[in-house]
Amino acid sequence: MPPLRLDSPLGDVLDDKVAKALTKAFGMARVGDLLAHYPRRYALRGELTPIASLTVGEQVSIVAEIVSVSERRMHNRRGSLLEVVISDGEGQLSLTFFNQSWRMGELRRGRRGMFSGKVGEFRGGKQFAHPDYQLFDDLETAAQTAQALASRPIPVYPATAAVATWTIAKAVEGALDGLGEVDDPLPDDLRRRHALLPARTALEHIHRPSVIDDVAPAQQTLRMQEALVLQAGLLQQRAAVAALHARPRPAGELRESFDARLTFALTDDQASVGEQIAADLVAERPMNRLVQGEVGSGKTLVALRAMLQVAESGGQAALIAPTEVLAAQHLRSIAAMLGPDLSAKLIPTLLTGQMPAADRRRAALRVASGQSLIVVGTHALLSATTTFADLALVVVDEQHRFGVEQRDALRAKGTAPHVLVLTATPIPRTVAMTVFGDLDVSTIRTLPPGRAGIESFVAPLAEKPSWFGRVWDRAAEEVAAGRQVFVVCAAIDVDVDEPGDAPSATDAAASRPTWGVAQVATLLSQLPRFAQVRIEILHGRMPSDEKDAVMRRVAAGEVDLLIATTVIEVGVDVPNASTMIVLDADRFGVSQLHQLRGRVGRGSVPGLCLLVTEAAVGSPARERVEAVAATLDGFALAEVDLELRGEGDVLGAAQSGARSSLRLLRVVADADLIAEARDEASVLLADDPQLTAHPGLRDAIERRLDDDTRAALGKN
Ligand code: ADP
Ligand code: MG
Repeated sequence: MPPLRLDSPLGDVLDDKVAKALTKAFGMARVGDLLAHYPRRYALRGELTPIASLTVGEQVSIVAEIVSVSERRMHNRRGSLLEVVISDGEGQLSLTFFNQSWRMGELRRGRRGMFSGKVGEFRGGKQFAHPDYQLFDDLETAAQTAQALASRPIPVYPATAAVATWTIAKAVEGALDGLGEVDDPLPDDLRRRHALLPARTALEHIHRPSVIDDVAPAQQTLRMQEALVLQAGLLQQRAAVAALHARPRPAGELRESFDARLTFALTDDQASVGEQIAADLVAERPMNRLVQGEVGSGKTLVALRAMLQVAESGGQAALIAPTEVLAAQHLRSIAAMLGPDLSAKLIPTLLTGQMPAADRRRAALRVASGQSLIVVGTHALLSATTTFADLALVVVDEQHRFGVEQRDALRAKGTAPHVLVLTATPIPRTVAMTVFGDLDVSTIRTLPPGRAGIESFVAPLAEKPSWFGRVWDRAAEEVAAGRQVFVVCAAIDVDVDEPGDAPSATDAAASRPTWGVAQVATLLSQLPRFAQVRIEILHGRMPSDEKDAVMRRVAAGEVDLLIATTVIEVGVDVPNASTMIVLDADRFGVSQLHQLRGRVGRGSVPGLCLLVTEAAVGSPARERVEAVAATLDGFALAEVDLELRGEGDVLGAAQSGARSSLRLLRVVADADLIAEARDEASVLLADDPQLTAHPGLRDAIERRLDDDTRAALGKN
């Protein structure tokens, strides 16, 4: 058999059953995937795993010693039950096998091995459900083998109930044994400068280290490989977009007359970001830019000025919002900002999936004919039936709800339109580099002057249950003062099961939220203080025209208190809203809370944010809430978010699942490494854009992109 390559199919080295199981469990398709499945940790034969440290519900593999084996007849059914107790010297854990007496031959007292299963609880003790094990050689035999072997660390792989860690270890052994030459993704010179290992050695050392000290240098090498492949891939992607031809769109009268209408001056940041965008739009390559700025920092305005610039030459702009409510609101505020004359020229048009068919057809026609120069919608704008006469600019509001593939799909609707992505979620530098490495990034740091500011408080019901009443007192006071109040719930109705609009960051609480929109509505309707208050509700299960009507009434000041789910999270602009009350605040992520808070204090009215939580002092959930109350700095909160939630979530959210997750690389801990890799990659690509002289790197990028595509298609 010819030597294996990293891109050989798994079936070349494993039997079908194992290959299929690995594909099903981890999405592995090739030998390279298997070898990139790195051990989670290493066990030593001599060291037992502390049983007390195991968490119920976890799938784990531990090293332990058998302390007793017993068999008994079953009372209520036929057959026998074999009970094996294993121990780490202190704690104990039991394994039970039904009708498997034959195992008594090998499961003998005093033997050690690796045991694997899902940690369960039975009568106060821990036990393994579906136990699985692999015994070490008897101690005497082990003593006879070379000492090197006895001290060899055992890799413990991320495993599932269907695929045990030793099954993976065995598969990896086979792959390593059969593996031929590996083209190194790291150029020789880079490897030497950073004192890293050859690729082949790194793989050997991470999967089958002779001693535990082999592991760290191997990880360091593989981390650099990962960073370099990622950065070089992103830079190539960026170069590919840059190589497309775009029609230059110089600004003219339209933008001028818009600027003349403004009753305020642009902030310095708005002006400078505006200049960057203006320059991008007159270039012959498509713009590919991310603008990040706090809620209310004036991003929409910046985007609108870009739309006016492309409209000058008859180019259309499409604005994609994450929800129908927001699309409708964007349309309204754009029309208001444009004023009657410009609106008549540009015909801003709403086009969403839930519009009545006749309206929708009319809107689609205006878009296809090129009559409407500004089109606002949701993902429906991506549908194959929407055609544009001359799509020049795509503005995506809130990148974290919008994946890379969708961006590409829209891009395909124009001949290389310019792309502008807006996000109010501040993105730490390394995340930006990792996830949005193909975009140019601009930042609006300052808010327009004249904002009255926001005060934030935590209402900690765990210690101070009476504060719950005071929260509603405050709400009533604000309404009495003529202000508007938002109440945000983590659920629509906690009395019915619903996947609904529940927020995503709910690591802490496996329990259900305490308050749903329905329950709050009932509560407030019973409080005499609220008898005269105009209360409405808003959530994702309402028909879109109803949602829209509610938002319209809120914007018009006809609603005093709105009880909603996170559908109001982004973009809602009600200058008279003073108060944001978030119930079960611990069930929301840091940046989500920050965004919600940004809904109030947008005008000259001072904002008040009350974060209501039952989470106990010191719990991670509580820490998140406290962190948000402690600062208004979105960038600082983004860092906190990254630390508290773990970057998997942050990356996952930021990229809408498009890029498969990082393996060894950690965006916070490896910030410097990522920056270095980016520099190295840009030097390499400057000399050799196709990486002809670096086939190892080129192939690794290809494999990675392929993984991403598969991940995006959900095929793994
Ligand atoms: P974002 O999209 O970043 O949340 P918007 O563009 O919606 O912010 O702006 C928020 C509010 O601030 C809007 O009412 C807008 O008209 C107003 N605004 C924008 N830029 C300025 C400015 N330079 N000075 C005063 N108000 C501004
Ligand atoms: Mg906005």
